[in-house]
Amino acid sequence: MSESLQIDAAATPMMRQYIEIKNANPDSLLFYRMGDFYELFFHDAEVASRALGITLTRRGKHAGNDIPMCGVPVHAADDYLQKLIALGHRVAVCEQTEDPAEAKKRGSKAVVRRDVVRLVTPGTVTEEAILDPRQNAWLAALARVRNGDAWLYGLARIDISTGSFEVAETDERRLIGDLSAFEPRELIVPDSLFSDPEFAPAREQIEMGRCAITPEPGALFDSTAAPRRLQDHFAVATMDSFGGFSRVELAAASAALGYVLKTQVSARPTLSTPKRLDATGALGLDAATRANLELTRTLSGERKGSLLAAIDRTVTPAGSRLLTEHLAGPLTDVDTINDRLDAVSWCLKNDAARDELRGMLSALPDMVRALSRLALERGGPRDLLALKQACEGALSIASWFAAGSFGDLPAVLDGAARALDGLPADLGETLARTLSDEVPLLARDGGFVRQGCSEELDELRALRDEGRQIIAGMQARYCEQTGVKSLKIRHNNILGYFIEVTSQNADALTGSEEAKSEFIHRQTMANAMRFTTTELSDMESRMANAAGRAIQIELEQFEVMRQAVLDADSQLRAASGAIAALDVAAGHAELALSEGYCRPHVDASMAFEVTAGRHPVVEAALRAQMANPFVPNDCRLGPDENRSANGSIWLLTGPNMGGKSTFLRQNALIAIMAQIGAFVSAGSAHIGVVDRIFSRVGAADDLARGRSTFMVEMVETAAILNQATHRSFVILDEIGRGTATYDGLSIAWATLEHLHEVNACRSLFATHYHELTALASVHDRLANVTMAVREWDGDVVFLHEVQPGAADRSYGIQVARLAGLPASVVSRARDVLDQLESADAKRDGSTLIDDLPLFSAAPVREEPKRPDDSILQKAVSDLNPDEMTPKEALSALYDLKARL
Ligand code: ATP
Repeated sequence: MSESLQIDAAATPMMRQYIEIKNANPDSLLFYRMGDFYELFFHDAEVASRALGITLTRRGKHAGNDIPMCGVPVHAADDYLQKLIALGHRVAVCEQTEDPAEAKKRGSKAVVRRDVVRLVTPGTVTEEAILDPRQNAWLAALARVRNGDAWLYGLARIDISTGSFEVAETDERRLIGDLSAFEPRELIVPDSLFSDPEFAPAREQIEMGRCAITPEPGALFDSTAAPRRLQDHFAVATMDSFGGFSRVELAAASAALGYVLKTQVSARPTLSTPKRLDATGALGLDAATRANLELTRTLSGERKGSLLAAIDRTVTPAGSRLLTEHLAGPLTDVDTINDRLDAVSWCLKNDAARDELRGMLSALPDMVRALSRLALERGGPRDLLALKQACEGALSIASWFAAGSFGDLPAVLDGAARALDGLPADLGETLARTLSDEVPLLARDGGFVRQGCSEELDELRALRDEGRQIIAGMQARYCEQTGVKSLKIRHNNILGYFIEVTSQNADALTGSEEAKSEFIHRQTMANAMRFTTTELSDMESRMANAAGRAIQIELEQFEVMRQAVLDADSQLRAASGAIAALDVAAGHAELALSEGYCRPHVDASMAFEVTAGRHPVVEAALRAQMANPFVPNDCRLGPDENRSANGSIWLLTGPNMGGKSTFLRQNALIAIMAQIGAFVSAGSAHIGVVDRIFSRVGAADDLARGRSTFMVEMVETAAILNQATHRSFVILDEIGRGTATYDGLSIAWATLEHLHEVNACRSLFATHYHELTALASVHDRLANVTMAVREWDGDVVFLHEVQPGAADRSYGIQVARLAGLPASVVSRARDVLDQLESADAKRDGSTLIDDLPLFSAAPVREEPKRPDDSILQKAVSDLNPDEMTPKEALSALYDLKARL
């Protein structure tokens, strides 16, 4: 935030106005409109010139110093805005709000009135150039209220570029995961929460997810004022009609809405009524799992390389956005999942229909983005044209469904066809009647209203465009009427249009009373006389005004069409949703066909039977590199009903680079794909719905996120062991690698036992601690599998096949050699390994497994013990290190020692 500027006594009126506006918007860069430029001054100019690489100049003086200035042309402002927003700046756009001619009337020194018309923040951009058509641009608000000892959180998100509005409630435990599912570009939080140390770790994680956090005054989040703000905006008497919202949800929803209204200043976005997202119906994915599985973007933040990019075959932006939403919130409701799958099956079975449907969908422009721009008064004729084409296209899809003898359509397709049919037919017709086929970007450029739509406009345009012919026609008429063949109508800048005859012929225009009353004398030249007529001067002023009036009529027509579009807001939104749903279903079918994916059997069982499963991203990457094809693998983690109803654990050992991580992830991805209602990358799959997926991946992957600490690994592992239910699916990759060998092995050992005995969920556990494989002999639902390799001439060949059994070595040294480690290091490593292995062999044939107290230490289901109330414990728990000086801490330590 820049310091507030003082108005200097010598400041010009314009600079006074600038300073007043700037001081009212201290936390934004002020784009101050001057003619065809947005100018920035003072500190803003320095920041912007650095950020944008534009020249910093000076203009006038303030408090004796030069005023730094830089500017961006209005027509290119979007590009500059995009850069500034991406760098985390906010921009206040200040426009002239009156005609400079009006200002002049107040005196020659009067300054044109200006006002901030909009604040551009990362979560409230609407510029087409800035938005990715395939992605929602969410602004989220986080509110919290006390609930006994804990906090309850409300989350709301709005995409003003599409009008979507969603609300959810969450708790401390799920907060980060739910926030990462929300994928906001900007998160607003009450300033008290922003500066609360308890919130600091969450803040750090959110910011790492490339989301800007904006603190806002607590009043914006006030839950008592919330219903009124929402009711006023949606013009309803009570929010109950939209569903039962909790207090904290209302607070978040109202804050998000309030912020949107504040940033849009006078423009009113059309928002859909808030939809409550039900956490109980969604597959739980915490932030780490989402990131590790690279669902919608890779660990480095790219879309390319993510699951989304690999499976997105949609042909419309709305379809792509819906698929992204599906991936952010896979379902747990078996019926809804199967409804979606039925739609995909139908599209797959009906080849010709699918191709036709995709062809029709691909021609449809993005309805909701055009609609939102129009609502925010930032739209133009092209948005209207887009809506016209979208309406016509959508209605023809509806009639195509009605005309095709498709029999009973699956519910998702049927619902979509109905929504398309619900579009008001007259809207498309009105737009078609009024709009030209080719339209300009901006309404003020005119030329977008179709010929024949308004008589007056046609006449005005005729005047403007065909003025010369009309004048020529008039000239011919006057020649005939006066009998003066040489009569001319001419034009100059002083007289405008005039009739000219030679002096000899002047009589014909002045001779009779009748002629005199028609031809008004203007000027006598040496050998010519000039006249005008009422008709000609009328025509002239009409021509002069025609262009202006034509634009005015076009703007009126624009407003009529804009209103007609806004009146159909809800039907257009429903149609856009329908287009997206059709696109996603047809896209999944296309994917299934091109990639050989299968329909998963999804039910409420505990099954996890995948045959010939593949990793969608790795498979595509290998194909693109023309490498050996992906080797499919089975995975069976379902319970054996005869023994237990609990899930099994596969303990996966094998060489480095053998494909362990790939196998773990591909099964998690298959579960996710199944639960978003997509076909899956497998030969067959039977998935009993999973309630949560947890993934903990190796230290190397964490490095990429800059968080490679053993502590983080343990925090994530703890979260899994504490939270996974027996319906969850857990993948753990190389637990315990971040510490000393025996510490790590012991942790991995105990973790595996806990998963088996307590969580009892379907799990895949990859490890290089081959000692763990011995546990399979004592735990009935634990099976050893290994990645097959073949050794050949001292080299290792990865077969990428998952087979029953355990690996006895990791071939780390061979992999290191392949990676190009110096030969001397490789050879020394071989010597060391030989020595270590022979030392191990000298342990009388006994192995580590024999040394460990297997049964006595196996975990039992028990409640955690209450903390001991011993004096010592109490003394320790009474200490508050945050508030102690080093000296106090030392004396407390002596005191404790004395009590021992
Ligand atoms: P490390 O133990 O070193 O972490 P890893 O066993 O986890 O290795 P991955 O990272 O899963 O190995 O796989 C290494 C590479 O092997 C992948 O990048 C991929 O190119 C290839 N690969 C993995 N699985 C398969 C497969 N099923 N078919 C073909 N290639 C595969």
